[in-house]
Amino acid sequence: MENGKWKIDNGKLTMENYIPNTFRMKVRARVIEEYHSVGELRSLLEKYRGERILAIGAGSNLLFQGDFDGVILHSAMRRARALDENGDEVLIEAQAGLVMDELIAQLCDMGLWGLENLSHIPGEVGASAVQNVGAYGVEAKDAIVRVHTMRVSDGQERIFENAECRYGYRDSIFKNELKGQYIVTSVVYRLWKTPHPQLDYGHLRAVTGGTPTPNEVRQAVMQIRRQKLPEVSEIGSAGSFFKNPIVPHEVYEAIAGQYNQVPHFEQDGGVKIPAAWLIEQCGWKGKRVGGAQVYEKQPLVIVNADNATPEDVKNLAQQVCDSVREKFGIHISPEVNYI
Ligand SMILES: Cc1cc2nc3c(=O)[nH]c(=O)nc-3n(C[C@H](O)[C@H](O)[C@H](O)COP(=O)(O)OP(=O)(O)OC[C@H]3O[C@@H](n4cnc5c(N)ncnc54)[C@H](O)[C@@H]3O)c2cc1C
Repeated sequence: MENGKWKIDNGKLTMENYIPNTFRMKVRARVIEEYHSVGELRSLLEKYRGERILAIGAGSNLLFQGDFDGVILHSAMRRARALDENGDEVLIEAQAGLVMDELIAQLCDMGLWGLENLSHIPGEVGASAVQNVGAYGVEAKDAIVRVHTMRVSDGQERIFENAECRYGYRDSIFKNELKGQYIVTSVVYRLWKTPHPQLDYGHLRAVTGGTPTPNEVRQAVMQIRRQKLPEVSEIGSAGSFFKNPIVPHEVYEAIAGQYNQVPHFEQDGGVKIPAAWLIEQCGWKGKRVGGAQVYEKQPLVIVNADNATPEDVKNLAQQVCDSVREKFGIHISPEVNYI
């Protein structure tokens, strides 16, 4: 494949060396390469040793702050296969470049349970294991058994078992201690043949009824998401811009004393307050800075409303963050990766 002209988004070619990203920022990389095998990835790492390397998937969680003076690597390995079946469990290995939602659609068609709540999240398998994507009470880590990787510095392959990935809320070792050091090549998931519906979050139970199939849960998730979130094909964004903060009980109690019905969830020994609620209370819904806008239907999302620049998005995000801190004393941190 020619450098900088690789397929993504239903086969649509990107312009030369423009980096695909769902925020629709017009940014370029010095080099963009796509690889089709683990051997090819190793050769590319050898070729570009010492240069700045960034592995990307579909670019749906990235905010480039300008052109990237380095090498962007993307996996064109998109196969999935069943590895093993043991009683109720099925192990599936999916390669990093497979679109996560395509994998989930296939699994639901096979009647397998485990990832259906993550339907319609943009992005690819490799990134989902780095990000620990989550939605409607399920996170990728719940199904991940192990993650196959290659070390950037010397092309060594390494398998990380689930516990070694140190998964947390939209977090993993690949975003912290080992940031940028390993490229995910494939992910092994454990799925179930018998019903394992997770319907306690959002309106899922109401939409699906009593005993749904994985595909019915998938359809319900997609229906709910379409009402609230911008479609990547229609409007630029990177999904939730901020993480939901988890605060000590006393901080929550203080806020609950001042406001009626503060939405909240017990999590990790603290209280998770939706960042969308905090942002809305600060009056940001629909507000703009340059071409960037806080999304009307879901204030956790910043959208590219009108040819936004990276600066517009950054400034808007900073102002939102500052006002939430001033009003509530709570720091909300970005979920989006600034590059
Ligand atoms: C409209 C919209 C809705 C969204 N909804 C959700 C949601 O409900 N829940 C949720 O969790 N997320 C959501 N997201 C965020 C996004 O979909 C996820 O973060 C997704 O995992 C990003 O996948 P990607 O392939 O686009 O990764 P990219 O954005 O390309 O990369 C994300 C990170 O992963 C790294 N990376 C990518 N591929 C590899 C690899 N093979 N090896 C090592 N590192 C790699 C990148 O360097 C980067 O740090 C949403 C985004 C959008 C635009």
